[in-house]
Amino acid sequence: MSKYQVDFYGHVRQYHNLKAEIDAAILEVLESGSYVLGPKLTQFEADLAKYCNTKEAVGLNSGTDALILVLKALGVGPGDEVITTSNTFFATAEAVWLVGATPVFVEIEPKTCNIDPNLIEAAITPKTKAIIPVHLYGQPAEMRAVSRIAKAHNLYVIEDCAQALGARGDDFAIGELSDAVCTSFIIQKNLGCFGDGGAVMTNNSELAAEVRKLRNHGSAKRSHHSVGYNSRLDDIHAAVLSVKLKELDKWNDLRRERAKEYDAGLAGTSLKLPTIRPGFRHIFHLYIVETPHRDELQDFLLKKGIRALTHYPIAIHQQEGYPWGQAARISGSLAHTERSAAEVLSLPMFPELTSTEVKLVVDGIKEWEASR
Ligand SMILES: *Cc1c(COP(=O)(O)O)cnc(C)c1O
Repeated sequence: MSKYQVDFYGHVRQYHNLKAEIDAAILEVLESGSYVLGPKLTQFEADLAKYCNTKEAVGLNSGTDALILVLKALGVGPGDEVITTSNTFFATAEAVWLVGATPVFVEIEPKTCNIDPNLIEAAITPKTKAIIPVHLYGQPAEMRAVSRIAKAHNLYVIEDCAQALGARGDDFAIGELSDAVCTSFIIQKNLGCFGDGGAVMTNNSELAAEVRKLRNHGSAKRSHHSVGYNSRLDDIHAAVLSVKLKELDKWNDLRRERAKEYDAGLAGTSLKLPTIRPGFRHIFHLYIVETPHRDELQDFLLKKGIRALTHYPIAIHQQEGYPWGQAARISGSLAHTERSAAEVLSLPMFPELTSTEVKLVVDGIKEWEASR
């Protein structure tokens, strides 16, 4: 039982809804004796590639490693610059630093909190090698513009899709306009295993082969190595993910329904509500409202037993010690990024959230407004 009246996550509810199938899938792996690079991983990779409509999917041990291994496989390293945003989970930029390259932070569009494509070109230098658009909160970035710029300047595009598996643009799919898509299966993501996991999806078979090699100590053939990593998705997690993948579209639809209820309930309040680009399938990994009185609202809700969180209250370039002696660059102003960090609040959002719980949150917010 959760100690909150309305919790932020519904992991255990999700497990209970699928308990029989998940337990059976795990037990089957335990009895099979194949736990690493086994048939369940191969099966899940096939399921995932089919779901994403990409040629390949490679299972890894985290979304962070997905970014690192793709950057490595594409030859991005010291002396290179990679354009991304600063209002993302830390790992997006961390991966760039970990391969020895320099993140270059570009401002966001205030409405969607995704990279502003109009500001990318000004950030490009002869050192730029790649762009990492983040599909923040579950809504794809404006990939057509990103891909047009990347083509004109001969840059790689790597989609950080950790929050947006199952989303799509109006006339583009994720994976269609990039070199690779990186995603995460940590439990709180829209498709989550019972721990850590990640994957790379791509239509480039050479790139997929290189990532497969890198995840297994640089080995494509037994006993033959170059320097790589240990970053494989375990078969237990792969088996669970194959079960859950079948539910993903339904779960994302449920999130979208709860988001509509929040939209309707909170219309007319002082809060800034999420903006969906026309025709985009936003899958509401997070339902974000914005208010200059964010901390006050978060505290008020907590006192009522409602757990709201912040994603992300400290932008990467605002972290203490940034950039820790490493190279980093800010292109232009990050005023919208900084305002967003100060004002965003994530309301409870998960597929098992009930309409009654949404109403409790909405009523709590209205009570807060009336009390000010
Ligand atoms: C979760 C997340 C990651 C990292 O994924 P892990 O599996 O936790 O390593 C990277 N980028 C974004 C935007 C994320 O939300």
